[in-house]
Amino acid sequence: MLTLQNYINGKWVDSKAGEYWDVVNPASQEVMAKVPGGAAADVDAAATAAAAGFKEWKRITPGKRIQYLFHLKRLLEENINELSKTITLESGKTFAEAKAEWIRAIENVENACGIPALMQGDFSEDIATGIDEYMIRQPLGVCACISPFNFPGMIPFWFLPYAIACGNTFIIKPSEKVPLTMTKVMELIDRLDLPAGVVNMVHGGKVVVDGLLEHPVIKAISFVGSSAIARYVYGKGAANGKRVQAQGGAKNPVIILPDADIDMTSQIVVDSVYGCAGQRCLAASTIITVGDHKDITESIVELSRKRTTGFGLDENVLMGPVITAASKTRINSLIDKGVAEGGKVLVDGRNAKIPGYEQGNFIQPTIIENVPLNGELAGTEIFGPVMSLAHINTIEDAIAYINGNKYGNMACIFT
Ligand code: NAD
Repeated sequence: MLTLQNYINGKWVDSKAGEYWDVVNPASQEVMAKVPGGAAADVDAAATAAAAGFKEWKRITPGKRIQYLFHLKRLLEENINELSKTITLESGKTFAEAKAEWIRAIENVENACGIPALMQGDFSEDIATGIDEYMIRQPLGVCACISPFNFPGMIPFWFLPYAIACGNTFIIKPSEKVPLTMTKVMELIDRLDLPAGVVNMVHGGKVVVDGLLEHPVIKAISFVGSSAIARYVYGKGAANGKRVQAQGGAKNPVIILPDADIDMTSQIVVDSVYGCAGQRCLAASTIITVGDHKDITESIVELSRKRTTGFGLDENVLMGPVITAASKTRINSLIDKGVAEGGKVLVDGRNAKIPGYEQGNFIQPTIIENVPLNGELAGTEIFGPVMSLAHINTIEDAIAYINGNKYGNMACIFT
């Protein structure tokens, strides 16, 4: 059994963790590796290495720093199939979804290669009599990223390339549910011959998160995950004097007006609700029709029924499993809750049986119609392949409902 290691100061090292967790393929329940639960000592070793590395790295010119990123871009492109397969195996999303994720990750590397221009300063002449003013952008020091399970590759790349291109050093803590992807990435980063300590990885859960939030040399934290943990990370990080950007959960509404193109709209809505089995922060979740809704409802139902669910490396599969057995149980109980609230199940994805993958965490596309919009189902981030379908008489009422929603990731209108 593969036991994952941390990557600290340019070397692979064992964790000082007291416990190890299974890394599970959500389609088959196969245990693929053991990931360390982490230890404060692991964070200290990474932070110390990153702080030492910062002294040298910040003095290397931006133009030289980005040469490492050009090399990284090539390595990611050369290994994109293997990296995508790893994402499918540990997160369940399909191979095509995983590959699309890598394209987005690589775009971030490309963008960060523009840092020599992007981090230029400003100069203002005569801002007061006899006074000129200049502004320069400088690296902060050690930056850390705490990432979620649903984009094991892309989300760390929202931060890593920019942090190091700007002259910071970096620690990544991947989600303990999907630690294999960034382990593969660190194998590629190891080939870049970066100075020691520039990029480090520490595996684990809450112990590592707390270690990062408390460690005195860490200057900035980037978090992406659920709202409750985002709030925790933001509060604790800020209390310890760190800059924190914390991106939380979502519940995304879509309005469909009577004049919308039915075929195009239903295809986009269904792709959005069920892509990555609904485990995307931009997944549409509450679909609100305005006025006559018979044809659009029929079209959405038909496309939802046709959506093939299965193991993400198998051909013609459009949707994989949800991440854990616990997540499947939670989503099924939310569907039950919607029914108890008066919703009508138009398409029922509970009790999915995928031949060859009977143990997998599969839920097939599900539509619940007429759930109360002030109820629990409509107000909860489901993070699974479940559409709440509601009908409202006027566009004003639909927009008023959206504006009263506590989440704000995205809202769409089809007309
Ligand atoms: P999560 O909050 O469970 O985990 C995120 C990270 O926090 C992981 O690295 C995890 O190890 C750590 N963590 C978990 N529990 C913790 C605790 N008690 N104390 C300290 N750290 C803890 O999120 P997830 O389930 O991995 O990801 C799904 C969530 O992420 C959804 O809510 C989704 O909307 C959100 N998300 C948001 C965006 C965005 O851009 N806003 C993007 C992707 C995902």
